[in-house]
Amino acid sequence: MALGEFDLIKRYFTRPARRAVLGVGDDCALLQPSAGQLLAISSDMLVEGRHFLSTVLPERLGHKALAVNLSDLAACGAQPMAFTLALSMPQVDESFLSGLAQGLFALADAHGIELVGGDTTAGPLNLCITVFGEVPPGQALRRDGARAGDALWVSHPLGGGVGDARLALEAFRGTLTLSGDDFETARRAMEQPQPRVALGLALRGLATAAIDLSDGLAGDLGHVLQRSQLGATVHVDALPISPVLARQPLALQRAFALSGGDDYELLFTAPHDAATRVLAAAAAAGVGVRCIGRMEAEPGLRLLDAQGQPVPLALRSFDHFKP
Ligand code: ADP
Ligand code: MG
Repeated sequence: MALGEFDLIKRYFTRPARRAVLGVGDDCALLQPSAGQLLAISSDMLVEGRHFLSTVLPERLGHKALAVNLSDLAACGAQPMAFTLALSMPQVDESFLSGLAQGLFALADAHGIELVGGDTTAGPLNLCITVFGEVPPGQALRRDGARAGDALWVSHPLGGGVGDARLALEAFRGTLTLSGDDFETARRAMEQPQPRVALGLALRGLATAAIDLSDGLAGDLGHVLQRSQLGATVHVDALPISPVLARQPLALQRAFALSGGDDYELLFTAPHDAATRVLAAAAAAGVGVRCIGRMEAEPGLRLLDAQGQPVPLALRSFDHFKP
């Protein structure tokens, strides 16, 4: 017999509260932030067909739903504490639920955070997570703190780059073909992004501004430029490109690295003389970082190749309401 709403919450989403004063099972969860810290809060929703394909393994979907939220805390330099899950699904499918919970809790455990509540309803498959973190006053990384002359940096997986998630998406869409190994590597980037929480924490007091890459580097950088009232030059040939993406034509490498979307790396600015500290922060966090350009007083985004020639932006960044 199919599980009811409360049985499924109990079976798949209830674990003993650890840090929370009160977790799943009451009308509210109760959390005690550390004394003197600000709460950092962010929500991200994943809608089937819009943010993920129906072919995704439930474990990877559970991972990604939490990862994209943790990525926002990372971009603010916040320490994750807890999260809620609002889930709508067409029917109770226990193999789906157990896979989803497995992926979700594996990532939660890796970050030492707990699920404290949520909502469960019947409807189209849709997951909305809200994450709660904390950060000392004045130390949050924000979009509006960059200064002219700052260096512009992007994080990347060790040995990898940005743009692989889009490469996988296009392979799924059939607009390009990848070898079996390349497809699996790119697909992992798309389905199992690693939130850069440790890097965000290590950049407190060092980065002047930060944002996580969800819609594409050029577009996300645009938000920092706008909020910081600056322009920038990006050296396109300095972008980190994975070996998989590097096997594609140059124009496509650039298009996906600049506007691919779904990267969940951190794009951040730091004083131009802080490179050694930035590299040390990245090494401590176990991720790569690359200096890709410079913040400037002159408004606008300038893309240059290694010869100093302008490079056109081939793709627009993702916008749900602009096809
Ligand atoms: P209420 O009707 O008071 O809003 P619900 O009946 O929706 O509460 O949920 C019962 C309890 O289960 C609450 O503590 C709620 O936070 C929790 N809950 C519901 N859905 C989920 C979920 N998907 N994951 C974790 N906790 C959940
Ligand atoms: Mg209630």
